[in-house]
Amino acid sequence: MESKKILLNETDIPKFFYNILSDLPEPLPPVLHPATKKPISPDDLSALFPMDLILQEMSTEKFIEIPDEVRDAYKIWRPTPLVRAINLEKYLDTPAKIYYKYEGSSPSGSHKPNTAIAQAFYNKIAGIKKLTTETGAGQWGSALAFAGALFNLEVKVFMVRVSYNQKPYRKIMMESYGAKVIPSPSDITNSGKMILSEFPEHPGSLGIAISEAVEVAATNNDTNYSLGSVLNHVMLHQTIIGLESRKQFELAGDKPDVLIACVGGGSNFGGFTFPFIGEMLRKESDYKVIAVEPAACPSLTKGIYAYDFGDTAHLTPLIKMHTLGSTFIPPKIHAGGLRYHGMAPTVSLLKEKGLIDAVAVEQNECFQAGLIFAKTEGIIPAPESTHAVKVAIDEAMKCKASGESKVIAFNLSGHGNFDLQAYEDYLSNKLNNNKLDDKLLRKSMEQIPVV
Ligand SMILES: *Cc1c(COP(=O)(O)O)cnc(C)c1O
Repeated sequence: MESKKILLNETDIPKFFYNILSDLPEPLPPVLHPATKKPISPDDLSALFPMDLILQEMSTEKFIEIPDEVRDAYKIWRPTPLVRAINLEKYLDTPAKIYYKYEGSSPSGSHKPNTAIAQAFYNKIAGIKKLTTETGAGQWGSALAFAGALFNLEVKVFMVRVSYNQKPYRKIMMESYGAKVIPSPSDITNSGKMILSEFPEHPGSLGIAISEAVEVAATNNDTNYSLGSVLNHVMLHQTIIGLESRKQFELAGDKPDVLIACVGGGSNFGGFTFPFIGEMLRKESDYKVIAVEPAACPSLTKGIYAYDFGDTAHLTPLIKMHTLGSTFIPPKIHAGGLRYHGMAPTVSLLKEKGLIDAVAVEQNECFQAGLIFAKTEGIIPAPESTHAVKVAIDEAMKCKASGESKVIAFNLSGHGNFDLQAYEDYLSNKLNNNKLDDKLLRKSMEQIPVV
């Protein structure tokens, strides 16, 4: 009988994170100060982050040790299973083998606690008392609220207003962990007030919520800011996903041909694929790697590779990345975690160098794929994760057409048990594809600064 789940022991939890900066074909372009446009120094970031994380952000060491306290916290749910989607294979009648790494098995339901735990730990040992952050769909806020509870830190979450209204249970979850949740734009920050004075009914965006959280952290000494994606140290912490997966594929006696993950800011994608891409960069192996984004927010497939701000109010440094423009407000799709105008600079550089592929898919076809997955494998995927499921199914169907028995692996970044309104909308035919407004996109792209 073939194994369904490939499981590791707690002692197999990796002892080091993998840093892809050590293997990149060229160094990442420097991060620039928003005012001077000169490369920033570690001190420029110290109002927001503890020095350990700033040094990780800039490090080019290949392996960075995971502190015991962090590995102990990971034991609550890690190692996560690698699962062979045998029922899905049978349903599709494909000769391909499909595997998924299940990151929805964490307490808050996604991959995000992998970095939330590490960030909370480094802030705690630096003497910080409070963390601020933003959240879209609520997954990141829940993860940081959970990590804050473990390390005894106060957590304040600015939640994109449209999600705050759509997802009351995510808010309650954050509050259950002891966090304070504020709909964004809010009237407790200058950036929020400015937007509300112009658009009182503003639905919010991740870019705006970031501005609010950064403003609160920058103006309070005992408060730091925590970002759930994009930055190098976040990608670094998430590599625990791919490092475990590599061990699990060894145990299974298989090797993936195709690696797939959805991309918002790029952290579950990077976390899952970077340890494998490292093998490609060192010429040890070859993989086809696909990043899947929503057609409503297509930064990798329609954005440009340029220096841009991470937030709407332009408080963050300038980073070179694929961007739709920092003022771009994506249509209200249910995959709130994918509604970000930018992309991790590491993922952007890999795309620019042709080392990874990117595809954009519509929300309806994703929910259709999500339901096939739910009915065959039992797990209702997060709306974000359905993007990866959709492309995994597409790749499996290509194998069916060609007769190839490739090994397809995707990251199931989260479950959708708090996203049932989205499934309800799909099932009652109320979901449309919320087309991108080309005129708005052009306008925000024109505002990308010339550096
Ligand atoms: C936040 C989130 C994403 C998108 O963020 P990345 O940084 O691109 O991983 C994807 N899936 C789930 C379940 C999420 O919560």
